[in-house]
Amino acid sequence: MSADIYQIECVVIGAGAVGLACAAELARRGREVLVLEAAAQIGSGTSSRNSEVIHAGLYYATGSLKHQLCVEGRRELYAYLATRNVGHKKCGKLIVATNGAEETQIAALHQRAQDNGVENCTLLTASEAKTLEANLNCVSALLSAETGILDSHGYMLALLGELESLGGSLALNAPFLRGAKAKDGFDIDIGGESPARISCRILINAAGLDAQRIASSIEGMPAEHIPPLILAKGSYFGCAAQPAFSRLIYPAPVDGGLGVHLTLDLGSRMRFGPDVEWLSETDPAKVDYSVDPKRAESFYASIRRYWPALSDQALTPDYAGCRPKLSGPGQAAADFRVDGADTHGLIGLVNLFGIESPGLTSSLAIAEHVADSASL
Ligand SMILES: Cc1cc2nc3c(=O)[nH]c(=O)nc-3n(C[C@H](O)[C@H](O)[C@H](O)COP(=O)(O)OP(=O)(O)OC[C@H]3O[C@@H](n4cnc5c(N)ncnc54)[C@H](O)[C@@H]3O)c2cc1C
Repeated sequence: MSADIYQIECVVIGAGAVGLACAAELARRGREVLVLEAAAQIGSGTSSRNSEVIHAGLYYATGSLKHQLCVEGRRELYAYLATRNVGHKKCGKLIVATNGAEETQIAALHQRAQDNGVENCTLLTASEAKTLEANLNCVSALLSAETGILDSHGYMLALLGELESLGGSLALNAPFLRGAKAKDGFDIDIGGESPARISCRILINAAGLDAQRIASSIEGMPAEHIPPLILAKGSYFGCAAQPAFSRLIYPAPVDGGLGVHLTLDLGSRMRFGPDVEWLSETDPAKVDYSVDPKRAESFYASIRRYWPALSDQALTPDYAGCRPKLSGPGQAAADFRVDGADTHGLIGLVNLFGIESPGLTSSLAIAEHVADSASL
């Protein structure tokens, strides 16, 4: 361990989309910022294992952080991506009902969209939906015209570029090991190839799946303010068929997720997922990200309800992600947690817990919320 103690105003732990957005926002506000990333590159965690969908904000409980930060973050994200020339497309999506029970669900989502102030959501009859997407099977559908897709890595590179242009910096291979409350902030130990001790006034824990472990390694952090982590893996399958849809197609939501949906990448290639596999494992380091080919069977069944023409053998295992959840199977979905000193009492520390979907969409708005919470 080096004897030098470096001083820096703000440290952000984690260079995923949320950590980088927080760092850029703090730098925009004139703060001196260092991002610590344990891996050898940015965005190698959940930020590169997701659907890359810009969500409109219609699923989340009205008034929740997920609702507010998604709607606000989505509007900001489209503007940011356009200004910075990052690949994205407002392609829209259809949430489809294939039976009467699902019709009730999508009617409730339509109402939720209105309550949440989500623009351009329209209920469609089956024939109206089929006019838009000829290959679709449904009894009715909800069109969300504000939904889109983005190049998430391009977005993170844009955030990093902005951070660096504002004088902030990033340290790769620099894992946060532990921290302790000091007189005016925190003393933290960094491991890796160049171990160091740093003193900072503001400490943002944006470590995604590792946020709970990081919070536990900060001396003085009250254990009762560290929520248990629940892991839910989501697998994706690629599809060899020619693109059959021009919008994203989602079924009615299921427990723990949004249902096995069709997403398109910016090259219009189709992929399906993620499903929901609740894990008994609670250590993120032990998650197996390989996709079990046997899961294809349930994918074929789910997808054929809205796309009957899906041919046998069309699906191939692709990649998987893991949701850092705060609620388990059968429980009401937990909200994002952006915990500042008003929650845990440590001035200058902000812990981000449960930043699952729509965390990517919400990242710019989460960052503003974090920067406000850090400046108590
Ligand atoms: C299957 C799936 C699909 C999703 N789809 C969407 C979607 O379509 N749209 C959407 O808006 N959201 C989606 N999400 C959610 C979104 O991907 C996440 O909310 C977002 O990427 C979280 O970003 P993050 O920066 O908080 O976490 P991460 O990207 O996981 O970043 C955390 C970083 O912290 C680093 N780290 C960990 N420990 C340490 C340490 N000790 N020291 C330093 N660094 C450390 C990690 O290496 C990592 O780089 C999805 C999530 C999943 C799992």
